[in-house]
Amino acid sequence: MTVRLVLVGGGHAHLSVLEAVIRDPWPGVEITLISPGGHHHYSGMVPGYLEGRYREPELRFDLIGLCRAAGARFVEGRAGRVVPPDEGRAGIVEVDGVEVPFDLASLDVGSAPVAVDLPGVVEHAFTVRPMSRAIELREALDRKLGTVPVGEAFPVAVVGAGAAGFEVALTIEARVAAAGRRPEVHLIEAGPRVLPGFSERVRRRALSILARRGVTVRADTEVTSVEADAICLQGRDPLPVCLTAWMTGAAPPPLLAASGLPLAPDGFLAVDARLRSIDGAPVWGAGDCISLEGHPGMPRAGVYAVRQGPVLAGNLERAVQEGGEGDRYEPQESFLSLMNTGDGRALLRWGWIVAHARWCFRLKDWIDRRFMRRYRELVS
Ligand SMILES: Cc1cc2nc3c(=O)[nH]c(=O)nc-3n(C[C@H](O)[C@H](O)[C@H](O)COP(=O)(O)OP(=O)(O)OC[C@H]3O[C@@H](n4cnc5c(N)ncnc54)[C@H](O)[C@@H]3O)c2cc1C
Repeated sequence: MTVRLVLVGGGHAHLSVLEAVIRDPWPGVEITLISPGGHHHYSGMVPGYLEGRYREPELRFDLIGLCRAAGARFVEGRAGRVVPPDEGRAGIVEVDGVEVPFDLASLDVGSAPVAVDLPGVVEHAFTVRPMSRAIELREALDRKLGTVPVGEAFPVAVVGAGAAGFEVALTIEARVAAAGRRPEVHLIEAGPRVLPGFSERVRRRALSILARRGVTVRADTEVTSVEADAICLQGRDPLPVCLTAWMTGAAPPPLLAASGLPLAPDGFLAVDARLRSIDGAPVWGAGDCISLEGHPGMPRAGVYAVRQGPVLAGNLERAVQEGGEGDRYEPQESFLSLMNTGDGRALLRWGWIVAHARWCFRLKDWIDRRFMRRYRELVS
């Protein structure tokens, strides 16, 4: 009997699943990948793309090519609901009104930006979740730069001062300056400090980099709405801006609440240490969209999705072969963090080591390019 395995979303962990199948095909399985587009974009290189350092093809994974190499079916569309199998009836994934049946499913659909329901955000702000939207952000930036004379001020709001907001503020600053306009970047954060989750040492270094580059940090500042040419802040006058980048943290993707799968209190898919839905349904998950049992504070970063990939692949293969429970995933305590600061350097945090230097960016660039090459070679 052939087992139908449906992979929902072409995120980092599912790249690993496809890679495992390409390298050593799994017998007795028919794999389908559902994704809104034929490309997945690598977030690690998105800030460099906004800066103008990378071209768009350099940061995309060819999902259709990977499916072809893995002998998998590619379905273009956005999954709206996942219904697990029940009493002999196959599970289904609803995709734009069409039902895709499955025996086993896995979700790697990433996350949604926080607070997009504020007035004007959807209409006027630019998000990068999913990463493919970074293309719209860069096109809008370039278009708007073209409307401001050389030498004039170009104010930008970047909302959310986590690692992504920090990188995007600095790489946009670099692009505006390179275009001969005067960057006025405002990094707006609802919480009390930039880079929450990082140490005080990293924060001090980050603040000095931001100050040197003329980025204004506005902490403890609530955004109330976004307009086409301004951002409105609680208790303050609206701030005129040419562009607003929405870099708030990770919220659960709408697909989860619509699916009736077990969710953790934070609204993400509740999975056990084997990355399987905690109710024992034949549904697995990885990456930003999960909440791992026993690790409620696990950061939502690509490095975790990447590390989960091989465990997920092994456990799915075992489930296809009905070969036992599978391996447990243990999240790493910490990870090497390399943030592009848009000046040819990166801010590195590795354990207690903090550095801001050109070699840090060269290391980041080498790691990122090597990661991309690995998947490119699988389809060539
Ligand atoms: C600017 C920026 C820079 C970052 N840099 C880093 C970094 O350097 N290092 C790091 O570790 N982390 C970084 N992150 C965080 C990182 O992007 C995420 O943690 C990571 O992408 C999560 O991977 P994932 O596989 O869960 O999902 P994603 O990479 O988000 O992939 C999910 C995929 O699922 C698809 N999808 C979504 N909804 C559906 C649906 N309903 N049906 C079908 N498909 C769907 C999406 O289109 C997407 O292709 C960065 C984030 C940002 C915003």
